[in-house]
Amino acid sequence: MIATLPFIQETFDRFNALCFEGCLPPIPIVLTRAGSFLGKVEFKAKRGLFGLMTSKQDFRMKISTGFDLSEEDLEDVVLHEMIHYYILLNNIRDTSAHGRTFRNIMARINADYGRHITIRHKADDVQRIVRPGLPVKYNVCVTTFRDGRRFVTVAANTRVSALDRFFSRCRDIEDVRWYETSDPFFSRFPRARTPKVYGITQEELERHLTDSH
Ligand SMILES: [Zn+2]
Repeated sequence: MIATLPFIQETFDRFNALCFEGCLPPIPIVLTRAGSFLGKVEFKAKRGLFGLMTSKQDFRMKISTGFDLSEEDLEDVVLHEMIHYYILLNNIRDTSAHGRTFRNIMARINADYGRHITIRHKADDVQRIVRPGLPVKYNVCVTTFRDGRRFVTVAANTRVSALDRFFSRCRDIEDVRWYETSDPFFSRFPRARTPKVYGITQEELERHLTDSH
């Protein structure tokens, strides 16, 4: 299913009562067509003296409508964001974005309520919907270095010519080729705005660029 406001709202309310003792204040929910994330919690940091963060405000939860998930997976996405919200609200220090605290809460909810919340919420963990009239296109640049190693760069639309100029001038690069493809494999690479290359095997290249042009 695709996320809808009533569904996300109802999911939030239900799990707030069930898993968080109803302690999470209501949060505005915003649907977005983002393809790079499933959900995220945003807030504004209010800074005090010396630029220290004194409080967080204007929380909102963004949920992407760009993915077709099972009802249960979508609920787990909301739960994942609710854990972030809980940690942020209570100013709990964690070892990283999905650190020890996050994992402890996640493990407790998974165990107590039979959920399957994960810390993977990257685009390539799920099926991407290709909307009619809105095909996902990747500008894939394959660079072959003089030592024979191959790399890929998935370029943002506006950066294709700049990146092409850069790579073509680079002495260590022997060959630069561009492909246009909608293979979802390439969703795992960030849309590069600056010259960054990522390792790829010959086998992966052949498998995912055969239908491209
Ligand atoms: Zn997260």
